[in-house]
Amino acid sequence: MFTVAIIGRPNVGKSTLFNRLCGRRLAIVHDMPGVTRDRREGKASLADLVFRVVDTAGLEEAGPEVLEGRMRQQTDRALSEAHVALMLIDSRAGVTPLDAHFAEILRKAPIPVILVANKCEGGAGKPGFYESYSMGLGDPVPLSAEHGEGLSLLYEALMPIYDAHMAQEAKDEADAVRAAFLETEAASAAKPYIDFASLEPDEVPEDDDSDPSQDPEDDFSVEAFDPRGERPIQMAIIGRPNTGKSTLINRLIGDDRLVTGPEAGVTRDAIEVDWEWGGRRFRLVDTAGLRRKARVENSLEKLMVADTLNAIRLAEVCVLMLDANMVMDRQDLTIARLVIDEGRALVIAVNKWDACADRKAALQRLADRLETSLAQVRGVPFVTLSALEGHGLNRLMDAALEAHAKWNRRVPTSRFNRWLKGMIDRHPLPMGKHGRRLRIRYGTQAKIRPPTFALFMTRPDDLPESYVRYLNSGLREDFDMAGTPIRLLFRATK
Ligand code: GDP
Repeated sequence: MFTVAIIGRPNVGKSTLFNRLCGRRLAIVHDMPGVTRDRREGKASLADLVFRVVDTAGLEEAGPEVLEGRMRQQTDRALSEAHVALMLIDSRAGVTPLDAHFAEILRKAPIPVILVANKCEGGAGKPGFYESYSMGLGDPVPLSAEHGEGLSLLYEALMPIYDAHMAQEAKDEADAVRAAFLETEAASAAKPYIDFASLEPDEVPEDDDSDPSQDPEDDFSVEAFDPRGERPIQMAIIGRPNTGKSTLINRLIGDDRLVTGPEAGVTRDAIEVDWEWGGRRFRLVDTAGLRRKARVENSLEKLMVADTLNAIRLAEVCVLMLDANMVMDRQDLTIARLVIDEGRALVIAVNKWDACADRKAALQRLADRLETSLAQVRGVPFVTLSALEGHGLNRLMDAALEAHAKWNRRVPTSRFNRWLKGMIDRHPLPMGKHGRRLRIRYGTQAKIRPPTFALFMTRPDDLPESYVRYLNSGLREDFDMAGTPIRLLFRATK
């Protein structure tokens, strides 16, 4: 669980902040002899952030002769198990030598540190607040733990770190789910995303000074998916239990053949239904996880995610249902990650909009979380709706169609190479480890669904991740593929 350590010399207000964050929830006071007598931990919440707090209080009773050693010990322990540290000072007292000592330790901390200038109520702490900039721990957050002031600023400082942590956890979980899934389905003949046989280097033009813009076939446009295609669009509606998936399906299909109910995890029949919307055929593929009963209670979550993975693999477009009244949590992110990692088109449906009390805040929070926790795919479309009242369904289906079209997008080779040249001119490739500048000679879209590009270059292993991101986001922007997972494959050539 995301863990926050509160650190600082005696009397700066650590326990007050601890109590403020943990509220009425009982703090667990660890009392194992000789081990953790010095501290308390508790479950805290700050708006939608839920985390564990470790308070390094208790130093107050230590005599000055042992204080420094014990402080050091406690701080190190707290740092080793926390994801972020709150370093408190008493702004009315200014920065004391002991504070400076702490700052020195914390500047080398392996985790992010938020400097908190406590006791800032009523302006009395102003000088100390400004003085604390000198501690080299970044911008201080002015706070009054006792009066509960400044908590929103603390929230803003914590939020990106919290979201990044969630994103990492979601990624790890998605990886674990996929690994477990692959193990059990080792025999299944999953096709590789790219046929390397069709991509032999003889496609690389001999004359690498050729001007791709001379290509007569070039039409400057991005080829859109043929909307008259015969096959129905395979769509999955996925998400945590009780977000309203079945209600939506009932609405879309206009049939009450699916069971909906207020309790989570109702057993349901397998689903695969064809229907039409706006002249396009859709096929709803198994919405998984719905059918299965909780066999083993504590693995329900895992089962659900594994079933969801199944549905994702059957689908082309995935609609991830969220409940507008609940913030996007780690499990939602895990599911989103699975969709992206599987290379499917993703649309987020924010359901129960009718019952959402603070719509503006809900949207802002969602946008923030997508930005920090799902940065791989900028611009995932999200649609607010009420499955219950039948509002927003057209917008949802339009978004699904558009996501599907982008997922099918094909960029002509000459256009792609001109774009590539422009990108490299604007931001030259770095030097390789051999001391010469890396070169990307040529690229081509190897595959659609999702758009996959093969680039032939010198020493692909030397290409930094930041450059890959630069190309990826440029591609997404310049070819209108917002929200689409894009794959870039780098192949070595001389
Ligand atoms: P599933 O587990 O995701 O399939 O969720 P259900 O479709 O069974 O819905 C769970 C509960 O949420 C039911 O009691 C629905 O009536 C309710 N619900 C679904 N959609 C909405 C909505 O748009 N607004 C409101 N207020 N409730 C909804």
